[in-house]
Amino acid sequence: MGISRILIANRGEIALRIHRAAHEMGIETVAVHSTADADAMHVRLADHAVCIGPPAAGDSYLNVANIISAAEIAQADAIHPGYGFLSENAKFAEIVEAHDIAWIGPKPEHIRTMGDKVEAKRTAGALGLPLVPGSDGAVSDFDEARRISAEIGYPVIIKAASGGGGRGMKVCESEDQLETLMQQAGSEAKAAFGDATVYIEKYLGNPRHIEFQVFGDGRGNAVHLGERDCSLQRRHQKVLEEAPSPVISHEERMRMGEVCASAMRDMAYRGAGTIEFLWENGEFYFIEMNTRLQVEHPVTEMITGIDLVREQIRVADGKDLSCKQDDITFTGHAIECRINAEDPFTFAPSPGKISYYHAAGGMHVRVDSGIYAGYSIPPYYDSMIAKLIVYGRDRERCMMRLKRALEEMVIEGVKTSVPLHQALLEQDDVKSGDYSIKWLEEWLKTRES
Ligand code: ADP
Repeated sequence: MGISRILIANRGEIALRIHRAAHEMGIETVAVHSTADADAMHVRLADHAVCIGPPAAGDSYLNVANIISAAEIAQADAIHPGYGFLSENAKFAEIVEAHDIAWIGPKPEHIRTMGDKVEAKRTAGALGLPLVPGSDGAVSDFDEARRISAEIGYPVIIKAASGGGGRGMKVCESEDQLETLMQQAGSEAKAAFGDATVYIEKYLGNPRHIEFQVFGDGRGNAVHLGERDCSLQRRHQKVLEEAPSPVISHEERMRMGEVCASAMRDMAYRGAGTIEFLWENGEFYFIEMNTRLQVEHPVTEMITGIDLVREQIRVADGKDLSCKQDDITFTGHAIECRINAEDPFTFAPSPGKISYYHAAGGMHVRVDSGIYAGYSIPPYYDSMIAKLIVYGRDRERCMMRLKRALEEMVIEGVKTSVPLHQALLEQDDVKSGDYSIKWLEEWLKTRES
């Protein structure tokens, strides 16, 4: 038997990425699309296509009933959710499995646990992952909050249990602000997520964002594929990612990677996952786990040579992982630039028609994108239109190649973040890898003044 036709419940570059892995395995694909995406490349490349609704994502890419119907009509035997949309929706994963369709993703109970930040932190702690010092679960009592904050020391950060996208977070500098900020965080969280639960942790001053890629077969075997450094962020959104991290030694990578892989073995985790940490003064602090493929997964693929989507499909099909930890080696350096249709420095969205397109090419250059000349970028979805991923034998050569590739990339008709990436590559701190999660926003401020 085995998987023979995958419905891809997504759009854009990630839908193409999944289609490519499937075809390389001899598996057919079914694209789903909104009416706004009828001419999209993922629809053109797939073997079958089903329209699932009007442009608004809530009516199409998030429309569970229509997606399940599409899978039934097109006789898909598996669903890959990509990232975003329904990828971390435990209920959707359960519905897919209840229809006897293979879910190319983690077990629903693991999606659910990691989706609740208090629960995720408790689980991570129990599995031996290092945590940011803070409250043991939710805090509602002010006296308790004062006691905990005094113990861990100010500044502290108050976070919403069901938070996401950086909302419902308050940094508190001293005890006299604590009560007010807790109330504010709670009511913001209630308004945004329908849940006022908050917890407290130590606020780290100048950390890096370093995450580990893990992979499990769901039966107690798991490996790690090293780390990615995603510290260049704006408003908690990643802009550029690299692997390996410029600050992590091979010994540290293998030590921390094993801590992560071992946690996944204990959970009998299935599929791809990312364990995110803040890193400061040589210490890792768990912040959350993403139970899906990440946008930045290609940098890991470039330095390990392992196709993560292929592994996802294998594991969903009940097969073993294609490699053991000892088979996984890390060679060279890779960087990914997220290219958005937006003004490179004001970040104002710039949807519209692409009048001319020429993709970068050459040795070790990968462009993951669904755009083409004449394509109209719809205004309804995420502004990311391409990912440029470049490999080099070392970090310096990777950066030189990236600079060359960015020069080659031509996207006309809309504004893009290509000039932002070009400017970033000229900065000494970026060249030397000396940046924290605060660096990009501070640099943008100095440009304005
Ligand atoms: P969300 O799910 O809302 O994105 P995260 O817990 O992943 O929330 O945190 C998002 C970002 O907020 C982090 O990447 C980091 O920039 C900042 N942050 C979160 N927790 C802390 C902390 N304890 N200290 C300093 N910064 C933090």
